[in-house]
Amino acid sequence: MMAPSRAPLVLVVEDEEAQREVLAYNLEAEGFDVSRAADGEEALDRVAEMPPDVIVLDWMLPHVSGIEVCRRLKLKPETRGVPIIMLSARSEEVDRVRGLETGADDYVVKPYSIVELMARVRAQLRRSRPASVGEVLVFEDIRLDAETHRVTRGDRELKLGPTEFRLLATLMEKPGRVWTREQLLDRVWGREAFLDTRTVDVHVGRLRKALGRHGGEDPIRTVRGAGYALG
Ligand code: CA
Repeated sequence: MMAPSRAPLVLVVEDEEAQREVLAYNLEAEGFDVSRAADGEEALDRVAEMPPDVIVLDWMLPHVSGIEVCRRLKLKPETRGVPIIMLSARSEEVDRVRGLETGADDYVVKPYSIVELMARVRAQLRRSRPASVGEVLVFEDIRLDAETHRVTRGDRELKLGPTEFRLLATLMEKPGRVWTREQLLDRVWGREAFLDTRTVDVHVGRLRKALGRHGGEDPIRTVRGAGYALG
């Protein structure tokens, strides 16, 4: 399967190094990119630098607790949508964290099985990055199958280059969202790519052409001074 866009980025926040590394190792084995933080402040810095697609967040952290990190991220509009899986030592803590309404998306009690935690991470990605876990995306009459790498519009199959495919997958994951050219560069080309933002315009142009080959309205909106959106 060709990656529909760059690998999902998972941020692991855990102060105990051995546990952090076991988690990171297993997430990397699943094909995810991993960033790490050893305390709450570092976690907030990591998120500001490079917003992850999922956060695995330990409750017990020095300085700023996991609960506080969760609360702060869920208060900010720009980070509210990032799914957070909270790790806690006891099930009573899970009850408490739920009661505190921190907004965590899922809770896992320690000691957890790695297999189960990986399944929970994938479940969150199905919501936040559906194409990255092979879901079929549908927007109006456009259908993108990330597993078979097929795109159809109406009953016609569309031939897209790999970059246009990743670009469309990214846009279809979040219809209506306005993406800046920098965000699209990061998501579609990868964060190590040092490319001019005009590259994005070139490929959006190609994608538009491919989508309109057999007629139909242009589903991509150019947002002046901002970037692009689907729908
Ligand atoms: Ca801890």
